[in-house]
Parts: sequence; structure tokens; C-alpha cells
Amino acid sequence: MGRNPQRHHLLPVSVVQGVERLLQEGHRRAKAAQLMGVDWKTADQIARGRHIKQRDKPCYVRCPGCGGLVLLPCLLCDLRAKQSQSRTLVDIAQRPPDSVS
Ligand SMILES: [Zn+2]
Repeated sequence: MGRNPQRHHLLPVSVVQGVERLLQEGHRRAKAAQLMGVDWKTADQIARGRHIKQRDKPCYVRCPGCGGLVLLPCLLCDLRAKQSQSRTLVDIAQRPPDSVS
């Protein structure tokens, strides 16, 4: 019994959405899996539309950031925001500490 059926339930639908979105944007399965923190097999299932979380489609909304039909908060935009945020954090870290009193 090497299978763990609970794994599916641990994967948030938003992550499945994120993988779907990355695949739609032309990323390879391996890359989409890596970016969203899932294994390749999961990304492959999503690419085929066979992932268990794709069956119960919740209400999608049009993302104001990327225009995709997603579950808010949009994971892809969140990921992008974090990437640009890391730059800001470097800026803050480089400021002299005496500027805050
Ligand atoms: Zn978005």
C-alpha cells in the first residue's frame, strides 16, 4: 500500500488552478510543477484535465491582474507580486537603520 489517497485533499484547488494557468501560458509540465510546488505527475494529470480537483469546479472570477478565470486571490498574480516584492525588501534592508526613530 504505497498510495496515499489523502494527498489529493491536501492540494488546494488554487494550486491546481495555478498549474493550469502556467500550462496555458506555455510552461512545460515540469516547470509548472516546480513553480507551484507539486510533483510532475500531478502537473501531468492537470494538463490532461484528469486531476481530481478539476472535477468539482468552484466559482471562478475574472482576475483583475492577469485576466484569467481563477479563484481569488489569484495564485499566479500573488506569485508575481512576491517576486517584485523581494526587490522592495532589499531596498528597505539597504536603508540606514537611523531613518526609523
Ligand atoms: Zn491573476
